[in-house]
Amino acid sequence: MTTQERKILSTDGSSSAAPNKLRRSKVECGQISVDNVSVVFGKGADAVTAVDKADLKISAGDFVCILGPSGCGKSTLLNSIAGYLNPSSGSISVDDSEVLLPGPDRGMVFQQGALFEWLPVAKNVDFGLRMKKQDEKEAVALVEKWLDIVGLQGFGDTPTYQLSGGMQQRVALARCLVNDPDVILMDEPLGALDALTREKMQSLVLELWKETGKTIMIITHSVEEALLLGERLFVMAPRPGRIHKEYRLPFAEQGLKQSLRDIKQDSKFSEIREEILTMIWNMEEEIMGGV
Ligand code: ADP
Ligand code: MG
Repeated sequence: MTTQERKILSTDGSSSAAPNKLRRSKVECGQISVDNVSVVFGKGADAVTAVDKADLKISAGDFVCILGPSGCGKSTLLNSIAGYLNPSSGSISVDDSEVLLPGPDRGMVFQQGALFEWLPVAKNVDFGLRMKKQDEKEAVALVEKWLDIVGLQGFGDTPTYQLSGGMQQRVALARCLVNDPDVILMDEPLGALDALTREKMQSLVLELWKETGKTIMIITHSVEEALLLGERLFVMAPRPGRIHKEYRLPFAEQGLKQSLRDIKQDSKFSEIREEILTMIWNMEEEIMGGV
């Protein structure tokens, strides 16, 4: 394990001051281009425009958060980038390849519950490696490496169901990262965790971002989480689901050096949080009014 990777192990809500070397050296991969993408489910009178003409240009190594009320198309947009579904119109590409199917360049982390809970931790983590028939010795070494990095050293043989929710999400992160994707897509990965565990995981995700240089796109329901993690934050609006507003935020970079709790006290942080809460509140009022 390198010194940089070891630093991630110390993640416990505080953050390390490791240099940004890996991150800056790998920024050539993981660029996402969403060009005028619409996704329509159903036909005729029953048609639902889940995503309407979304346009996003994400640079390699960006940390992007997508926030918005329930049903505004966040998962649909992410699943389209993952290749689980194809846009009705427009196109998506990662680097120079059009996304038509899921691929190893894009890793997905779901909310709690997407692991094979009856299998040992290592068998969850090496799933992708087994699928691509990686040499067994190499696979064992890689699994061990990533379990160490996410703070689960020595848990390889533990049945996954015996782990706490936070530890299971560490397994989910290791399972994604072991395949070395350029882009990590996460659909409310921390949504089911208690507040303290969630904060620790937010720090871990920031550390992983810094250390690996990967492009990360994360969906969250939490305004605070979106502000803490999103260098770029896209707020989506419903009916039809669309990108409503983009923010470029300093807090993710700050979170690499400063405790997340201190950042939340920042007056700029509170100001933007209130602005976005009001924005989403108004969207939800509109939806309720329209029912
Ligand atoms: P979010 O993740 O923001 O909560 P979704 O992307 O899951 O929203 O859904 C956006 C809209 O598309 C919702 O109105 C939802 O009911 C609809 N929708 C999502 N998936 C399907 C599907 N497979 N078939 C029909 N409608 C769908
Ligand atoms: Mg969703």
